[in-house]
Amino acid sequence: MKYIEPHAHMVSRTTDDYERMALAGCAAVCEPAFWAGFDRSSPAGFYDYFSQLTEHEPKRAAMFGLKHFCWLGINSKEAEDVKLAEEVIDLVPAFLERGNVLGIGEIGLNKNSRNELRVLERQVELAAIHRQLILVHTPHLEDKLKGTRLILDVLKNDSRIVPERVIIDHVEEHTVELVLDCGMWAGMTLYPETKATPARAVDILELYGNERLWLNSACDWGVSDPLAVPRTALEMKKRGHTAMAVEQVIFANPKKFLSQSPHFKIA
Ligand SMILES: [Zn+2]
Repeated sequence: MKYIEPHAHMVSRTTDDYERMALAGCAAVCEPAFWAGFDRSSPAGFYDYFSQLTEHEPKRAAMFGLKHFCWLGINSKEAEDVKLAEEVIDLVPAFLERGNVLGIGEIGLNKNSRNELRVLERQVELAAIHRQLILVHTPHLEDKLKGTRLILDVLKNDSRIVPERVIIDHVEEHTVELVLDCGMWAGMTLYPETKATPARAVDILELYGNERLWLNSACDWGVSDPLAVPRTALEMKKRGHTAMAVEQVIFANPKKFLSQSPHFKIA
């Protein structure tokens, strides 16, 4: 099977993971800018990270025949320091023309604080000005529904934002419909412990259909599984979904959304 991994934090993974993903049929991997597991102390730390995502990581992926793309921005966990966040946001435009950059992400909310909202609005503005796609991280557990509503309000309030060019990631049973009803795309993150398991994700697909949805592993420095997407494809097959339906969710859908960026080109 052929698939796209639309959300994976490969800087945290080993070359063994790249090899296993390539063996499993991965055609391209997309890496949103994220929290490193610790707070960076200066904008220079982000400058180096953006350089890593646009220069170094594509070369590492290419060793395994994989195309590597990325998203740039400051994540909500580091948005509490608004001055730092604004300095980081100012760094982003200079990187947007680099060949593997798909848009602004992952941005969003974590604790739904006032400062996080301010930084989110700044980054939505940045995407609007530079006509970039947007990838949004939604909060965990009890903060998710409220956070998702706040994020959708910010996006809907900016008339320059085209819903089909936004993906809201980490949706769950109680937020997926809200997102799809706005005309935006929804991403399901497959985690071994938290977020959706392969079985839960397929339950959601069976309820809401295969349109404007994608699956990702978000594999990072924590407990996560770089093969979560093909594992979920297997779960779909076991439940009798057709090969065409599986291909739509794991390959055609992410390709359709991501191809809205002129930088996303795969064979
Ligand atoms: Zn992520």
